[in-house]
Amino acid sequence: MSKTPDDKRLGKAERDIVALGIATAAIILFVGTGGAVLPDVMRSIWGQGEGPNLFLVNALLLNIALVIFGWRRYKELTNEIAERRVAQKTAQKLAATDSLTDCLNRRSMAEFTAAVCQRGRLTGNPIAFVVIDIDNFKQINDMHGHSKGDAALIEIANRLRAILPNNVKLARPGGDEFAFAMEVEIGDTSRVEELVMRLCESANKPLELGEVSAETTLSAGISTNSPLRGDGPDPIDAETLIHRADVAMYHSKKHGKNRYSLFEPAMEEELRLRNELEVGIRRGLERREFVPYYEQQVDISTGELVGFEMLARWKSPQMGVVSPEIFISIAEDIGVIGALSEQLIELAFQDAREWDPSITLSVNISPVQMRDPWFSQKLLKLLVKHQFPPHRLEIEVTESCLHDNIGMVRSMIASLRNQGVKVSLDDFGTGYSSLSQLRTLKFDRLKIDRSFVSELRDTEANSKIIDAIVSLGNGLDMPITAEGIEDESVLDTLKSLGNFKGQGFHYGQPEDSDQVRARLEKLGKLRVRRSKLSSDEQKADSNVAQDDILAAVEPKSNSTSG
Ligand code: C2E
Ligand code: MG
Ligand code: MG
Repeated sequence: MSKTPDDKRLGKAERDIVALGIATAAIILFVGTGGAVLPDVMRSIWGQGEGPNLFLVNALLLNIALVIFGWRRYKELTNEIAERRVAQKTAQKLAATDSLTDCLNRRSMAEFTAAVCQRGRLTGNPIAFVVIDIDNFKQINDMHGHSKGDAALIEIANRLRAILPNNVKLARPGGDEFAFAMEVEIGDTSRVEELVMRLCESANKPLELGEVSAETTLSAGISTNSPLRGDGPDPIDAETLIHRADVAMYHSKKHGKNRYSLFEPAMEEELRLRNELEVGIRRGLERREFVPYYEQQVDISTGELVGFEMLARWKSPQMGVVSPEIFISIAEDIGVIGALSEQLIELAFQDAREWDPSITLSVNISPVQMRDPWFSQKLLKLLVKHQFPPHRLEIEVTESCLHDNIGMVRSMIASLRNQGVKVSLDDFGTGYSSLSQLRTLKFDRLKIDRSFVSELRDTEANSKIIDAIVSLGNGLDMPITAEGIEDESVLDTLKSLGNFKGQGFHYGQPEDSDQVRARLEKLGKLRVRRSKLSSDEQKADSNVAQDDILAAVEPKSNSTSG
């Protein structure tokens, strides 16, 4: 086995200990021989006797050489040891810190927290543990690249350190997460809360990352072993303290981010449920448990069925039919929304190919998918694969997409429209789209959020809002769909306000693929199943769709590119 530099240094130091032994022995010998030789030498100098014994003189000179040699080696040894101490300290520091931000790393954080807990046991003071996570950090990495992501981490670490008391060590246990442990005065957790609030606020100022700047927020979780009643800290160990702060941080994330939460036992149950849902969603995706339901879209003036909005449902073997409001955001968080959406769109294309060609299909797209630069390519691939004419497809994006990355959204919308797909702005009125965004983004349709529509019968204010949206739509040449029509009176009011497409429970609840087929069959709007067409008819049918797709994707001389 080859020797490490440290082994070599150790070996050398050991040899030098032998050198020190030799030097010491030489000094003793020097005293002995010197005692015998030097008086003879002095007497011979004064002419009082014979010269010293030559053998002893040689021995004395040898002794002197040995003393000098031994002393020099000893000095080298002490220098060597000092150097080793410095090297060891550097190695220990490197092993204990995160080289990017100079914070403690995960391993040393656990050790340090255990030490703070130990100290707390001695002083009787409770310990607080705080976890801080950067919200949407992935977006900074995706938008500006990893070097800017690193710069953002360094900047956040510096801002946090500048606020923390000097004796508190900041750790970066991994990714975009920071943490620290501190002793608090008994019954004074509010000071920790104040501190954490200030830490969270430190992200309010944009991060300057060289030539770009980025905005972010922080979510935090606090746990303490401070007792709710009685005196003296709870006997929980450092590991539990860290876990609880994680649970509280996760709670902050789930409740809107940009906030902090103090751990409560109920949060643990919430996390367990969430983990179960995550596992269930991944498994459901593999087992194809996600299915499209469809909600009718009707021309409100004629009552004619003109299209369907596809709404995702999860047919979970354990939980029954689960609403998208529960699983979409989790699928986004765990990074499977793209795969989930593709599965659903494929099923919807298969279903809609059997409907009358005049009937449109709307699908909802998550803001996460709008950030995928390949999204429109993926969609085109699905259109081609299922021979689905792009002009029958409408993509619904929510207003919240618009403030994510307006440049990317703009090019995505342009690219989808160039393929012949229509794009509508969903839940309009609940977000923050500005008039200039509406003018430049070229949506094909506005969908008024159901919160304005369903309360139309109660408040005059809502009808004024709808009136204003109708004027806006007319001005921008965007047709309008009203969501959430629940009864005849709302429908009548809407009819008096303009000409819309409408949808809502008044026309029926969302239905599955078979129910839709039965409905269309009754209306005479179901095509003959492709499997029942002759091969020539199937070929002709495919060609029509193919032509549609080709016409849509061929370069257009007057196409918009941004
Ligand atoms: P959304 O796109 O605004 O869809 C309309 C929601 O309103 C649907 O809820 C629908 O069932 C409900 N709704 C329709 N008419 C009425 C009514 O008259 N009264 C009331 N109270 N509610 C009505 P659902 O199916 O639970 O979907 C909720 C949201 O989940 C959708 O809102 C959409 O944003 C999202 N979503 C659904 N499917 C998908 C999907 O495949 N992908 C993505 N990314 N999001 C989806
Ligand atoms: Mg929608
Ligand atoms: Mg909507």
